[in-house]
Amino acid sequence: MNILVINSGSSSLKYQLIDMIDEKVLSQGICERIGLEGSCVKWKTHNNDELTVFQTIPDHTSAIQMVIESLTHPDRGVISSMSEIAAVGHRVVHGGEHFQSSVLIDEDVLQAIRSCIELAPLHNPPNIIGIEACQKLLPSIPMVAVFDTAFHQTMPPYSYLYAIPYEMYEKYGIRKYGFHGTSHKYVAHRASEIIGKPIDELKIISCHLGNGASICAIDGGNSIDTTMGFTPLEGLVMGTRSGTVDPAIITFLMEKEKMDAQEIGDFLNKKSGLLGISGISSDFRDIEKAVYQQNERAELALEIFCYRVKKYIGEYIAALNGLDVLIFTAGIGEHDWRVRKTSLENLDYVGIKIDDQKNKVAVERGLEHKEIEITSEGTKVRTFVIHTNEELMIAKDTLQVISSGTSLKV
Ligand code: AMP
Repeated sequence: MNILVINSGSSSLKYQLIDMIDEKVLSQGICERIGLEGSCVKWKTHNNDELTVFQTIPDHTSAIQMVIESLTHPDRGVISSMSEIAAVGHRVVHGGEHFQSSVLIDEDVLQAIRSCIELAPLHNPPNIIGIEACQKLLPSIPMVAVFDTAFHQTMPPYSYLYAIPYEMYEKYGIRKYGFHGTSHKYVAHRASEIIGKPIDELKIISCHLGNGASICAIDGGNSIDTTMGFTPLEGLVMGTRSGTVDPAIITFLMEKEKMDAQEIGDFLNKKSGLLGISGISSDFRDIEKAVYQQNERAELALEIFCYRVKKYIGEYIAALNGLDVLIFTAGIGEHDWRVRKTSLENLDYVGIKIDDQKNKVAVERGLEHKEIEITSEGTKVRTFVIHTNEELMIAKDTLQVISSGTSLKV
């Protein structure tokens, strides 16, 4: 049974076709620069070669049309017709408080996703355009929405509310929503499978450290707290995002630097984080290179990044009243042994200790070795590096929704 996964952004559209019998990716690709000059489709062939075809892609409907043509192409296609696709799973960034799990898309669901545009003005509109384009071209195939925010809907009010007048929550929905839910859920379930213990018996901290980064405290399979908040700006230091700052800095800078709301938003979202501290780059590989050359600001960026990871781990051990499993995932979490080592230094008194050798092996083997335990022998908390797979999680949720035949709307 094949599931098509669609991740539709403002000017790009990624897809994967997954055979759910053996969870094998049959085809994957990306349409880039939709509606812009120089648009192209890139996809991976059967033998993992990358192909790029430059072609005008005026809008998302044309992009979906190209995906369909590529999947069913007589020579390089992988299926003979779209009737071989059981359902389409769409990544949707923000489901607000409407959805606590994935859901079959109907007009009410689309309307609820539209009502969340205010909360995710850059992400939800292209997600909706992708859904509508698929509905137009594939009207008989069921569509499922899988939300980045849904996994965190189990957070209790004392965890998701900010200490500002309660009316602002009622009036504007200002609260913590959290993001990267699909990734946190996937790696938590994988860890439970690897250990062979039901997820409802585990206390897990998942560290998704990529260009965007967040940590999640998971108790018995439910998210009880996460570092991203009302928007993906809160929490950890990220590529260009500041993470948590004293909110008074905002008004101070607006006054001193004569910044307006747009400028201060850009300052915190696009000019801060690793880039802002190091003055070099938002990319961790560049930071690592500069650290190797003893660049002090790069060293400081790395220290600040790791210190914040460590602090949140401590915070979430307290929130969970203990810890069984710690997971590192995403670009930095999966590949950077130094970040894992520095973030976990001297935590043996809470039962966290990693094996230096295994920690480095995880890097050397890279993606070839998608899951590895790096726990030091005799240590209580089991630490893993797990390659995240949001597309597979979306496909699994999609299959579950269409198999149960029910709408899982809250
Ligand atoms: P993601 O958002 O998950 O794609 O992660 C992107 C981040 O992972 C960027 O900061 C990359 O520099 C970082 N990254 C990817 N590969 C490596 C690597 N081998 N070593 C260190 N950082 C890496």
